[in-house]
Amino acid sequence: MNANLSEADAANELMRLARAIAQHNRLYHADDAPQISDAEYDALVRRNAELEAAFPSLVRDDSPSRLVGHEVAASPLSKVRHEQRMMSLDNAFSDEEVVDFVGRMRRFLALPEDAEVAMTAEDKIDGLSCSLRYERGVLVRAATRGDGQVGEDVTANVATITDIPQQLMGDIPEVFEVRGEVYMSKADFAALNAAQAAKDDKIFANPRNAAAGSLRQKDASVTASRRLCFLAHGWGATSAVPEATQFTMMQRIAAWGVPVSPQLVLCNDTATMLQHYRKIEQARADLPYDIDGVVYKVDRLDWQERLGFVAKSPRWAMAHKFPAERAETTLEAIDIQVGRTGKLTPVGRLKPVTVGGVVVSNVTLHNRDEIARLGLRVGDRVVLQRAGDVIPQVVENLTRDVSRDAYAFPDHCPECSSEAVAEEGEVDVRCTGGLVCPAQRTERLRHFVSRVALDIEGLGEKTILEFFALGWLESPADIFRLKERRTEILTREGWKEKSVDNLLAAIEAKRTPDAARLLFALGIRHVGVVTARDLCKRFVALPRLREVAEKAHTGDEEANAELISIDGIGPAVVEALGDFFHEAHNVSVWEDILSEVSPPDYVVETKDSPVAGKTVVFTGALETMSRDEAKAQAEALGARSAGSVSAKTDLVVAGPGAGSKLKKAQELNIEVIDEAAWADIVKAAG
Ligand SMILES: [Zn+2]
Repeated sequence: MNANLSEADAANELMRLARAIAQHNRLYHADDAPQISDAEYDALVRRNAELEAAFPSLVRDDSPSRLVGHEVAASPLSKVRHEQRMMSLDNAFSDEEVVDFVGRMRRFLALPEDAEVAMTAEDKIDGLSCSLRYERGVLVRAATRGDGQVGEDVTANVATITDIPQQLMGDIPEVFEVRGEVYMSKADFAALNAAQAAKDDKIFANPRNAAAGSLRQKDASVTASRRLCFLAHGWGATSAVPEATQFTMMQRIAAWGVPVSPQLVLCNDTATMLQHYRKIEQARADLPYDIDGVVYKVDRLDWQERLGFVAKSPRWAMAHKFPAERAETTLEAIDIQVGRTGKLTPVGRLKPVTVGGVVVSNVTLHNRDEIARLGLRVGDRVVLQRAGDVIPQVVENLTRDVSRDAYAFPDHCPECSSEAVAEEGEVDVRCTGGLVCPAQRTERLRHFVSRVALDIEGLGEKTILEFFALGWLESPADIFRLKERRTEILTREGWKEKSVDNLLAAIEAKRTPDAARLLFALGIRHVGVVTARDLCKRFVALPRLREVAEKAHTGDEEANAELISIDGIGPAVVEALGDFFHEAHNVSVWEDILSEVSPPDYVVETKDSPVAGKTVVFTGALETMSRDEAKAQAEALGARSAGSVSAKTDLVVAGPGAGSKLKKAQELNIEVIDEAAWADIVKAAG
């Protein structure tokens, strides 16, 4: 923890962390395409917790510490609200933490120091949590965890999973929700990826992602074509719980016909729990499925009840995680890749090695500092770690003490030979070539036409590189002038009348692009998809955004305040926008593209409502909806939702636990209502 960190810096960092963690949650849970390792993710979460502990007044409404799992993704599956929230578990990484955990419970229950607390222990399957609702013994609904409160309806999909009975056998309570993990076995995962590779289709990073991608399908026949399994680990809403302990209840669920882990045991003391942990850890490699730890739960259900929940996790359960898997290999080369923003990323080429069931031959080395921290040089023996997940990383250099010249990080761009420097306070080294750097220019063009940006079909990487080399594509606007080169393109190998016309038609179709997509496509630093949309909502037309951003850059307080007042926009974005328009070549790219395309004014569909045109701030806990849902409602009613209370705020919706924002609203004499009154406004406008 940085002792001299200012409150403003901490607030900025917390904002960045909230956004980064939300993005990685989305990539991991919704897109099944994680981009960072679990360890890196955990580091972000830990940093967030540290900062929040040091600056309790800065805890954000959208803080990751307040969320379970991920926000429910925009998906074709319909949403299901869980009658009883699906919780997540706290983690322990050492025996001491497990002992502490048992000690805490003992104190909470006011038991004597030496009292043993019987607990169940079972392997923690790395799958996708699912809730199965049985009414009168018949499966009526299956839902994914989602954000813990709202998941996705996968009833049709689980119908194809043979482990999940459609009908339970025996004496079943009127309503009973079985909870457990849908997973894919290691063998089925390997077979699926082999089949995907043969079709040149998407390769899944790990069995968990494959299971999630297979279950969350609009077309249940896709799910049916993949072999999925299920193991129960607990229950949710029930009309009755016919047993008094966790262990006997799980036995009963098994008797009803739902599979339960064969590793589930009852432990009468902590020593037995830890013994079972070691046993499962040893058996791990031979188990048919991936696991990442052992879960302990208090056996007595009346004690579970008394212990209850803290924040998003039960006090009576804990996941004891396994250490990450490691392997040793040789670093054979360090290559430098130049990205769209000119960032030089070192990539380690490794002697291929298997770690955690995956052959690894490349590893990102992140940046210059990381190479220096590990003292990496070509030829070094390194330890690679892969934590039940995605991107492996180098965690140790075994030959750092052997005398050899240190690796010299390039001070010139390997693509354009321009100087490469790290700005003050930045770890990333960037090529200063800007538009003369072919790597940056082609990466920017690729970004410009990519699916999330302008989405121009038929203009792939190969074509961009080819046209760029010919001098036909200097900047994004040139894309819209390609039609003048129709005859020339036809002389190129591989192009026919039809393919050229298809490409030109795809380009023409984007003459009136969505303003937010166009703004995002320009690749301004810190302006991602969401930020671009937020900016367009506020400024409606791009020239107006430029005007305000330029003013803010010259130090105009009002312009700066206008930008900062937008929820989710912080100083980093304001600075990046100012810098962008300050650079002459960016302005010419901007003007050039706006001479070729005309994005219509950005229209937010609104309803006539009493809050139309007003600025609303939500604070405190909302009980019947997520904050995102509330914000979406405000926007649909023509209101703007802001992140902080100021003189420009018209209305504050405060839930329980509202703190400084509520106080400020009262000081400024701003109208404050509760969640129910807000719901009435929404209902009246509906
Ligand atoms: Zn360069």
